[in-house]
Amino acid sequence: MNNLFSLKRFGCALVDSGQLNLNKQIYEKDHRVIDEKCICSVCQSGYTRSYLNTIVSKETTACHLLTIHNVAYQV
Ligand SMILES: [Zn+2]
Repeated sequence: MNNLFSLKRFGCALVDSGQLNLNKQIYEKDHRVIDEKCICSVCQSGYTRSYLNTIVSKETTACHLLTIHNVAYQV
């Protein structure tokens, strides 16, 4: 996956209250899923904000997971 999204968008998950920037340190110890009401496979599989925060700057997997969530959120 290339730079389909700008760096600013990378690491952002869409939620009802706006966006979660999972790069932020406050999510380091946040063990909730992105959005409890979300039915996407990422949230349902129990990927936590803490986990995503850990991998978001290192692995494209994070981008992939966030894309799944964001696409599901928007439909
Ligand atoms: Zn989701």
